[in-house]
Amino acid sequence: SKLRKGLEKTKGSFIKNIETVVLGYANIDDDMYDDLEAVLLTSDIGVETTDYLMDMLRTGVKNKSIRDTNDVVPYLQKCIADLLNENAESIDSHSDAVEVIFIVGVNGVGKTTTIGKLAKYYKQHGKKVMIAAGDTFRAAAAEQLTIWAQRTEVPIIKHREGADAAAVVFDATASAKAHGIDILLVDTAGRLQTKSNLMEELRKMARVASKNIEGAPQETLLVLDATTGQNAVSQAKLFGEVVPLTGVVLTKLDGTAKGGVILSVKRELGVPVRWIGVGEGVDDLRPFDAAEFADALFD
Ligand code: GDP
Repeated sequence: SKLRKGLEKTKGSFIKNIETVVLGYANIDDDMYDDLEAVLLTSDIGVETTDYLMDMLRTGVKNKSIRDTNDVVPYLQKCIADLLNENAESIDSHSDAVEVIFIVGVNGVGKTTTIGKLAKYYKQHGKKVMIAAGDTFRAAAAEQLTIWAQRTEVPIIKHREGADAAAVVFDATASAKAHGIDILLVDTAGRLQTKSNLMEELRKMARVASKNIEGAPQETLLVLDATTGQNAVSQAKLFGEVVPLTGVVLTKLDGTAKGGVILSVKRELGVPVRWIGVGEGVDDLRPFDAAEFADALFD
């Protein structure tokens, strides 16, 4: 499958290295622990997740869930699946209100593409979708988004370049309500360099959205580029300070060996990974399923 193919490089480095190290030891001893820790630390899962997995491993050995080195990798697989699964229940909006989803992230991570893919996904699942071009700073952003809107046959609300992003949100939420839209996807500016401006802008957009639709935005998804490894995690922490996040979209998992970053994102941010991007095409976004992901990584 596309997921398995996408994760091949991550599997080939991260998982293969773990297996090689562990199975190189006849018994579980301090040397094995040291070697395994070194492998985990040089992968993209981060220090915190490494510590967590090492603790889990020692616990597993102590309570005899792990009896010899053959048990280590399957045990780690389960730990990783559980870790990814924590708090992963999706937000179920039981109301009839338009579900407003803000898409945030720095430029280049795949925000525009993700919005196009989400539009296609929701439409395919019987939802009425609308897009709001809330990144009024980059003219190219609205243009690209318009192409995606045409491609997926979804209406788009946009203003001229340099317009107030909150005004776009005001128009879009009003229009979405009037037209019985189910899902409103809102693009946002990705200028993290001007953190306080961005914070102010996103807050204003949220305020305006909730004025027209109670509880909006119901979701704020941060888009992160998996190929940037641990940089994605630092970016996520910064964004978390700017705006309350409900989930992460991890793009470009195809063709990177840094897929382990997904664990780091999950553990260090405490927000669930909701979607993963495994290619540039409109169908290359999938809801994140922890068990499926762990299976694809280990099998
Ligand atoms: P934005 O600046 O954040 O809006 O980024 P774009 O949506 O324009 O995407 C930047 C580049 O990343 C484009 O070339 C996309 O085709 C590519 N891209 C986005 N998502 C994925 C993905 O999941 N896999 C791959 N391989 N490329 C992606």
